[in-house]
Amino acid sequence: MNAPAAAISTWLVSNRLPYRLDDQGSTLECTDGGLVTALLPVHQAGSSWWVGQGGFPESPGFADRLETERVVDVAIPPGIAKDHYSGASNGAIWPLFHYFPGIAVFVPAEWTAYRAVNQAFADAILARAKPGDRVWIHDYQLMLLPAMLRAREASLVIGYFHHIPFPASEVLKIHPARDELITGLLGADLVGFHTLEYARHFAGSAARLLGIEAVAEELHVEDRLVRVGAFPLGIDAQGLLAAMDTAEHALAKERILSQLGGRRLILGVDRLDYTKGILERLAAFERFLRLHPEWRDRVTFVQLCVPSRIEVERYERLRQAVEREVGRINGELGSTGHAPISYLFQRRGLDDLTALYRVADVCLVTPLRDGLNLVCKEYAAASEDLDAVLVLSEFAGAAEEMGEALVVNPYDTEAVAVAIARALEMPLTERRRRMGALRQRVLEADNRDWAHGFLQAMDEVDRRNRANASRDLAGADLERQRAQLRGHLALAAFDADILDGIGDDDRGLRQAVAAAQQAGAQPVVISSLPRAAIDSRWGDLPAWMAAERGAFVRDPAGTWLAMPPGEPFAAWRTEVRRYLDQRARVVPRSYVAENEASLHWHVGRRPSALVDAMLRETAHMLDGMLARGSWQATRAVGGLVVRSANHHAGTALDVVAQRLGLPAGAQVLTVGDRFSDDALFR
Ligand code: UDP
Repeated sequence: MNAPAAAISTWLVSNRLPYRLDDQGSTLECTDGGLVTALLPVHQAGSSWWVGQGGFPESPGFADRLETERVVDVAIPPGIAKDHYSGASNGAIWPLFHYFPGIAVFVPAEWTAYRAVNQAFADAILARAKPGDRVWIHDYQLMLLPAMLRAREASLVIGYFHHIPFPASEVLKIHPARDELITGLLGADLVGFHTLEYARHFAGSAARLLGIEAVAEELHVEDRLVRVGAFPLGIDAQGLLAAMDTAEHALAKERILSQLGGRRLILGVDRLDYTKGILERLAAFERFLRLHPEWRDRVTFVQLCVPSRIEVERYERLRQAVEREVGRINGELGSTGHAPISYLFQRRGLDDLTALYRVADVCLVTPLRDGLNLVCKEYAAASEDLDAVLVLSEFAGAAEEMGEALVVNPYDTEAVAVAIARALEMPLTERRRRMGALRQRVLEADNRDWAHGFLQAMDEVDRRNRANASRDLAGADLERQRAQLRGHLALAAFDADILDGIGDDDRGLRQAVAAAQQAGAQPVVISSLPRAAIDSRWGDLPAWMAAERGAFVRDPAGTWLAMPPGEPFAAWRTEVRRYLDQRARVVPRSYVAENEASLHWHVGRRPSALVDAMLRETAHMLDGMLARGSWQATRAVGGLVVRSANHHAGTALDVVAQRLGLPAGAQVLTVGDRFSDDALFR
């Protein structure tokens, strides 16, 4: 394939291409689906390529056709494709992430195939993309791809959207390659989920497994910002409303109404998947009929199951079980003239499906776990007269946005049975009020807005990363900067906690001090260590040293200076210490260290969400205790610090400047990181 033209900038990436061969097997045809209708306008705007597996013939004529459609077909050998898709993706990640760890199977060879497919995608993209291009990756089959791309082309703007649930870290940890999965996603600039809950689970997993701290929706990975956020997918509102405007739709509606013969309609629409809770729903419907025999002849429950992954034995077994249950319930609770359940195993077109939506009095969307669920949103959008009730599982991602539904626990058969009765008997005003709110919300944010919003958010993170990028000063650039500073630089201040490196290696810090002296500047080292530790570690270092991040300053000859008086702490010290000790006792492996001017509660670099909440609450409580003075309790890396707000890196620099009698406007170089050295830079 030829290199793309210079203007091309967006790469849409999904495991499968949204194109298939037409009946003659010669031209491409686009398949429909929620994601496709969301992304197609982006693709058709003409500045993007779509990358995925298509399995298209390798003939030259076909290559031209792909080129015209701006499609890249990633060719994967069938055995590897199967291990990647049916094995590592749908046999391991899918069940685990939907909270079915008991049926997840982890096969090393399948994981190798997963890596290989992600690598093949990376190769296909990198062979064509230019530096600075946007890449938007979709879903759990490609979780390693962001980091693979970042490693080889750091300038790409990478977004990843996760369409299925992201489980709590305790569940994720079951996956043998959990660290690799998290690291893979952290290659992106933006990692999107349907709900805040999933985003929180992801951020928590990054903290727990890799020690990467999240601040609100931001993770700091090396010198990059990775934004994590909730972007709930919308429906194809245009397509849906257009389908409802067709003659086919009107006919289908008439047909359904006449078949119902005045009975009320309860509807279920799902891919036939064990996550959708279809057997549990049938049990709840049966329970409802037994509790309310008066409804037996007055309702029909239409359960439409779309065939899915039929080659997999588990799905075939589920189909048999569903059909057995439908037969049994109809046998036991039906009559000669009426079967309470009407079961369909087929995929319907949108004209037909919307007719079912519109006629249905109640829609049961009760998955055991679902990333989002579009059916419930489509049902609300299609309910033009607002005379409809949605019963929705609390374990569907959409439940976060659809609080006006009757929200149920799908495992609680009794509760779902009660909800069905309540839905059928709900007064019209209440039905309208609830559905009115749902419908409006669904129509306000469709899938095109979603795509647009996500791409915008990607660009926004990229802008911030560029603005804050660490620059490598090299060659002429560096020499020019040096020349400008030579002879003019008065102070060079270093954050030792950053430069000190890991363990005992302080070479970086010592080199920096030596370089400052060569440049004629006075080196100043800001450390969080107490005075005694500084003396034993850096007694020989010819630099100004600040202990406890600015509470004390030592001159280069090794004498500690008298500091401007701070607020006395003695009055509260015992009280604060007792309080911290009490809290530390319940957090395993945590301890309180008492320095001269500060108290530290160390909990380790990867606190659990619970410990994190405790730290915040403790800081809040202590702030109340300390409110009379200028002492403060703050959350710090690895724990909590109580110290004077009047002493910080900035005040330490002031003390040094005064001692040296530096004039105002003297040149000062500060070296730290942009996450923890605000006071130093200011
Ligand atoms: N759908 C369809 N024909 C059918 C049944 C369902 O086109 O006969 C569509 C439905 O309109 C919805 C999608 O399939 O857009 C199902 O999406 P959802 O998010 O509810 O579940 P998923 O299948 O993605 O798990």
